[in-house]
Amino acid sequence: MDNTFVEFRDLRKSYGALEVLHGINLAIGKHAFVVLVGPSGCGKSTLLRMIAGLEAITAGTISIDGRVVNRIHAKDRGIAMVFQSYALYPHMTVRENLSFSLEMAKTPKDVMVARIERAAGILHLDPLLDRFPAQLSGGQRQRVAMGRALVREPALFLFDEPLSNLDAKLRVEMRAEIKALHQRLQSTTIYVTHDQVEAMTMADLVVVMNDGRIEQSGRPLELYDHPATLFVAEFLGSPA
Ligand code: ADP
Ligand code: MG
Repeated sequence: MDNTFVEFRDLRKSYGALEVLHGINLAIGKHAFVVLVGPSGCGKSTLLRMIAGLEAITAGTISIDGRVVNRIHAKDRGIAMVFQSYALYPHMTVRENLSFSLEMAKTPKDVMVARIERAAGILHLDPLLDRFPAQLSGGQRQRVAMGRALVREPALFLFDEPLSNLDAKLRVEMRAEIKALHQRLQSTTIYVTHDQVEAMTMADLVVVMNDGRIEQSGRPLELYDHPATLFVAEFLGSPA
């Protein structure tokens, strides 16, 4: 692939003597929306945290935009991450929650104001900017959490099961919002979920993981129609 933006080469992770990622190889194209899917405990969050620089790399390499980032500090990787438990700062308004990381990064005031305005517009947060987190619904809080990532205008967006605390109806709505956001920003996105439906409906590229390995990667329908292993067939519910 000549437009590769993120690449893993024989990436491994051990906690003590226990290896939990066993040699991950994958290339992700620029602007792609990639979904990492697999059962709980298969290593999705570990992989995502390694990309973000929140977890040490045991062996192998991660490259982002052509440069090996193993030794690059988290804050210099051009990444923003949205977690499942989107802890907002309870004593800050929505606007303050959005500006906090930019202030830490000493972003000039006018740039900060412009970015918050843009993120608020995209995520429909304008009427909420002066509220506190306790005055928001679950979906609104998740939008603020996305806004906090968005204001940093990352080249690479990481999502770790961002919708699993929301009810079913909201989950479906938010899937569409996240996709619309991606279409608009064209940031390369890696989205982790254990939900097959989420993977099949949202991904350009689905990567099925099992027990610290990639079982198969490909377009959703490719995987569904031509599962390479019994695990993939069963996990995606392909016809026998
Ligand atoms: P997933 O996100 O797919 O549910 P994780 O990446 O959280 O999976 O976990 C992968 C494996 O690594 C699991 O066996 C888990 O118990 C183990 N693990 C994760 N974090 C740690 C840690 N900090 N210390 C020890 N083991 C861990
Ligand atoms: Mg996880």
